[in-house]
Amino acid sequence: MSNPSLLILPGDGIGQEVMAEVRRVIDWFGAKRDMHFDVSEDLVGGAAYDKHGTPLHDDTMAKAQEVDAVLLGAVGGPAYDDLDFSVKPERGLLRLRKEMDLFANLRPAQCFDALADFSSLKKELVAGLDIMIVRELTSGVYFGEPRGIHMEDNMRVGINTQRYTEAEIERGARAAFDMAMKRSKKLCSMEKANVMESGILWRDVVTEVHADYPEVELSHMYADNGAMQLVRAPKQFDVIYTDNLFGDILSDCAAMLTGSLGMLPSASLGAPMANGRPKAMYEPVHGSAPDITGQGKANPIACILSFAMALRYSFDQGDEATRIETAIEKVLADGVRTGDLLGDEDTVAVSTSGMTDAILAALDASL
Ligand code: NAD
Repeated sequence: MSNPSLLILPGDGIGQEVMAEVRRVIDWFGAKRDMHFDVSEDLVGGAAYDKHGTPLHDDTMAKAQEVDAVLLGAVGGPAYDDLDFSVKPERGLLRLRKEMDLFANLRPAQCFDALADFSSLKKELVAGLDIMIVRELTSGVYFGEPRGIHMEDNMRVGINTQRYTEAEIERGARAAFDMAMKRSKKLCSMEKANVMESGILWRDVVTEVHADYPEVELSHMYADNGAMQLVRAPKQFDVIYTDNLFGDILSDCAAMLTGSLGMLPSASLGAPMANGRPKAMYEPVHGSAPDITGQGKANPIACILSFAMALRYSFDQGDEATRIETAIEKVLADGVRTGDLLGDEDTVAVSTSGMTDAILAALDASL
């Protein structure tokens, strides 16, 4: 049988630096766990624009459609800020999500005990926190028509349309229920059924899908209350399913409960391919961080945790994903810190590669 295939798209800025560290982790799995991947690498974002005049070449798009999983670093940077909207680095990312039809965005918010002091909430509210937000990613108000700005009665009017078909709500709901089945069998669906018809449909469809998942405890919550509950008592949640707009906001809010941007992975999943694996792209939540690019200061953990998500959700290697997460937990408990994680008592930061050295040593110790 051939090895599973991975397309690596480092992108711009620290995307390239953190992805180099992920490659060391991938190599470790080859050398120490006899797990081999066919890895190819290509350009996206500003790097692709510099070479091809487009943030995503058609050949790269075609490769992304063929591989078992895509790993993306980050795109963007000041050099590209003034480009036309149609060729901005972010368009490369959006094209990948759209053409791969990645409708379920998984955003874990997990608080490592050693970093609980970094949260803006009290330590006891976040220590041990482990939430998974499943955000519908390809529809809703960011895509609905009509949209635009036009004149009415001599006045400018801005329009966006929240539109969901039941099929769109249902496929995301199935991804969320499947996720709940793999975790603590608890799912909270969030919408605004009190004021939005699309929210009423959302609640109805999620309730209908629930019939196929009788073991899962389903609750519904208005998204505004959800925001309040996330900062009041976040540990009441396990899996949350919500739409594109609310998911955008709620997942950022939940993520910040855990401390630094440099710690946050994500996955975007689509429909199963012929081999049963979902179309999938894994990426850290952070951007290209131009302020620290090229200085060896970037925290590689978000990107390494994104690879762990790939092991779990694309390659059915949950135990090996846990091995990575446990190694990271140990390294943090030992006080190893990149600059973004430095607290008052910590004085010395390790470099990007220094953090990976420590993680690889912890992986070695796990054998
Ligand atoms: P950013 O996430 O790049 O950086 C925000 C702050 O967090 C910066 O101070 C940065 O140094 C710090 N930071 C981020 N990741 C870090 C890491 N791994 N280790 C240590 N510190 C880290 O967001 P921004 O500054 O608003 O945007 C910079 C560029 O990135 C822009 O061009 C933006 O469009 C782009 N961007 C891309 C993505 C993506 O590719 N998914 C996401 C967000 C922003």
